[in-house]
Amino acid sequence: MGVKQKSKSLSSRQSDLSNSFYQLEVLSNSALAYSGVENFEERIKNAGYDEGILPGKIEIFQINIGKLCNQTCAHCHVDAGPDKKVENMDRATLETCLDIVIGNNIPTVDITGGAPEMNAHFRWFVESCSAAGIKVMVRCNLTIIMANKKYHDLPDFFVANKVHVVSSLPYFTASRTDSQRGDGVFNDSIEALQRLNNVGYGIEGSGLILDLVYNPSGAFLPGDQSELESEFKRQLLRRYDIVFNNLYAITNLPVSRFLDYLIESGNYETYMTELSEAFNSVTVGGLMCRSTISVSWDGYIYDCDFNQMLDMKSDVKAPHINDFNAESLSKRRIKTNQHCYGCTAGAGSSCGGEVA
Ligand code: SF4
Ligand code: SF4
Repeated sequence: MGVKQKSKSLSSRQSDLSNSFYQLEVLSNSALAYSGVENFEERIKNAGYDEGILPGKIEIFQINIGKLCNQTCAHCHVDAGPDKKVENMDRATLETCLDIVIGNNIPTVDITGGAPEMNAHFRWFVESCSAAGIKVMVRCNLTIIMANKKYHDLPDFFVANKVHVVSSLPYFTASRTDSQRGDGVFNDSIEALQRLNNVGYGIEGSGLILDLVYNPSGAFLPGDQSELESEFKRQLLRRYDIVFNNLYAITNLPVSRFLDYLIESGNYETYMTELSEAFNSVTVGGLMCRSTISVSWDGYIYDCDFNQMLDMKSDVKAPHINDFNAESLSKRRIKTNQHCYGCTAGAGSSCGGEVA
C-alpha cells in the first residue's frame, strides 16, 4: 500500500530547531521565557548523586547508522527522513565499530537510524557481528519490510542472523498510529508483523525475539508498561492474529521534532513541568547511558542517542571511534541537560522501556 509522509524534516523546513545549539538554548532556558523547572544537574545532586551520573561497564554499543528513513514521523528525535541521503555511515566507519566491539568484548550491538536497513552496508555489518558471536538488535520500523521488493526478504535475513527485532508501533489502531507516523503506516506495519510471525518471530520457543515499542501520541507520560503490554497482546492477537514478546513503553524526550511539536502546540512548559514533577531518583541507577555507548554515522561517541541528536559528545578527550579508549570512557561523567528529565520521570525510560 505504501506510506504517506507525515511531516518534513526540520532541516528541509530550515527550522531553527534543526540546529542542535538552538535546541540546547531552548532546553537551557535562554531562548524561551521559561523558568519552572529546576536544573537537571542540581536535581541529580540533590538526589544524592554528588558526582552526577557515572557510567558502568559498556553492555550495549549502539550505532545510529544513518538518518535516511522511508518515514518522517511527527515525533522523531533523529529528524530522519527520505531527504537524509548524506548522513549515513560508511563501510570504513562500520569496520572500525566492528573492531571495537570485538576487541572490547562488548556483548550487544544495537543498530538504529533512520531505517537502518536502508544503509548500503547494513547486511554486511549484521552478518559480520553475527559471525563474531555478537548479539544484534535492529530497530526496524516495520514498514521498511513492505516499502520495496528488495526489503521483502528482511524477515528471513533477520532469522539467519538471529537478530533481536525491536519495532515501534504507537498503538493497535490505525488512527493513532498513522497520526504519529503517517497515513498507511499502520496497515504496512501489521502486514510486516504478520510476515515476522510467519518466519517464527515472537513465537514461543523459536528463540526469535520480536519486541514492540509504544510511545505516547502527545505531551503526556506513557501508562504502566505491563498493562500496556497485556492490552497490546490481547488486541493484536484478537484483531490480527499477531504475537510478540515484550512491549517497551518509552517517554518522548523534548528533542528535535518532538521538541518542535511541544513548542508549536504550546505544550512545552506544561510537559517539562510534568516530567520534572514526576522525577524518580530510583531510575538513576538503571539509566541506559550508564551501560550504553552511542555512535553517530560519522563516528563520534555520545552517552546516548538523545545526546547525539543534541551534539553533546561524551566527556572524554577524543570522543571519536578512531580514538576509542574504554578506560577513559569508564572514567567520564555523563553529560546531561533538561531533556534528561524524560528518562527519570515515573518508572523511567530507555531504549529498553521502563528502568525502575
Ligand atoms: S521515528 Fe523512526 S521510523 Fe519514524 S522517521 Fe524517525 S527514524 Fe524513521
Ligand atoms: S537523555 Fe537519558 S540516557 Fe541520555 S544522558 Fe540523559 S538521562 Fe542519560
